Amino acid sequence: MKTQQCFSCGAREGMRHFEGRGETLTVKGMECRVDDLSGRECQKCGEVEWDPDTDSGERYGEAGDALVIAARQMIGAEMKRTRRKLHLTQKETVQLLSGGGHNAFSRYERGEVFPPKALVLLMRLLDRYPHLLADAKALAEGADLRGTFKFTQHKEHETPTVS
Ligand SMILES: [Zn+2]
Repeated sequence: MKTQQCFSCGAREGMRHFEGRGETLTVKGMECRVDDLSGRECQKCGEVEWDPDTDSGERYGEAGDALVIAARQMIGAEMKRTRRKLHLTQKETVQLLSGGGHNAFSRYERGEVFPPKALVLLMRLLDRYPHLLADAKALAEGADLRGTFKFTQHKEHETPTVS
């Protein structure tokens, strides 16, 4: 079997040829399998180089791109469903939860970009516990925040964390 020095870690005879391999790609819990891949893999560091004489690299790249798009659309659909369940407009959702530009949430829902991880988590929490939306609105108005400020100021022996 033909071996070669690894271009990544420099291991002598590290790169070993393989073919007929199947790889499973995972993005945000979605999976895609790509079969019949060939190339070389370093036995030491795991670096992979697809066989340029085959379409392995192309197919692997395309599968990855398609998976990212599918995952963005899946999460976008979830964001939309949850927002509607909470009876919020996209504009209200931006003001209350996500921040960003006026069309930020619309871009998430269309699957153009992944929403921040914290926002996905927040939407999933509100999907499960919709009654927390009232608390979210109260907190967003800063009522509870003002209470926190007052509380820290009264503790005179402690160094205030917020000045
Ligand atoms: Zn290597």
